[in-house]
Amino acid sequence: MKYNDLEYELFARQFILKEFTEEILSELNKLKIAIVGLGGIGCPLSQYLISSGIKNLKIFDGDKIEKSNLNRQILYSIEDIGKKKSDISKSKLLKTNPHSNIESYSINLYEENINLLSNSSLVIDTTDNWHTSKLLNEYCVKNSVSFIFTSAVGHDIQIAFFPNKKNKHICLNCLFPNKDDVEIPRCETVGISGITAGIAGLLTAQKTINSLLNFKDENNILTLFNTISGEIQKIKVKNNKECQLNKG
Ligand SMILES: [Zn+2]
Repeated sequence: MKYNDLEYELFARQFILKEFTEEILSELNKLKIAIVGLGGIGCPLSQYLISSGIKNLKIFDGDKIEKSNLNRQILYSIEDIGKKKSDISKSKLLKTNPHSNIESYSINLYEENINLLSNSSLVIDTTDNWHTSKLLNEYCVKNSVSFIFTSAVGHDIQIAFFPNKKNKHICLNCLFPNKDDVEIPRCETVGISGITAGIAGLLTAQKTINSLLNFKDENNILTLFNTISGEIQKIKVKNNKECQLNKG
């Protein structure tokens, strides 16, 4: 599979950058990315991944579009209220690159259907749902699939990338080892700035490109960013011996 003439035109300003060699383009072309959650982070994230030349996306969200989504879920408009997020996302993303392959699922992921994530190069969790985050983390650890956990609440963003290489266990559960669902602040109750959700999507898109194309070592790094102060922190996550997903 290669990029066609239209795609070379669409992505011309990016592909001219020195990092985007022929070799990198053939890698980029083949990547298969699963985005779970098409909300405030998932919308800009999917839009910018497609705009960066990613061609294969699986997108998941069981929700329908509501008015309160529109300040940050940039793939949706007033006329989309009541429609499925997955359907509208797919049609909007195809308008950016009609030659991309987008599988959209209007469902939430559970133990029973998690195998829909198979054949992904990377799974990105933007769900704002702790139970789903734990489930996705476990699936990615067991199947050695790279995983990004990304969340934004108020003006705070946290993003972590776990490569999940065999024989080197470090995961989301090592970082947050609570077994049960915790009462974490959620956007629904605490609020979320539209700009913060947008920046979280863009930072996650860049982390995706950095890690999968080896532009930068993002392995097991938790990035924290406050959009008001502009302060960024990077924390190297270590293996937690108490983590029940530890293999040995
Ligand atoms: Zn772990």
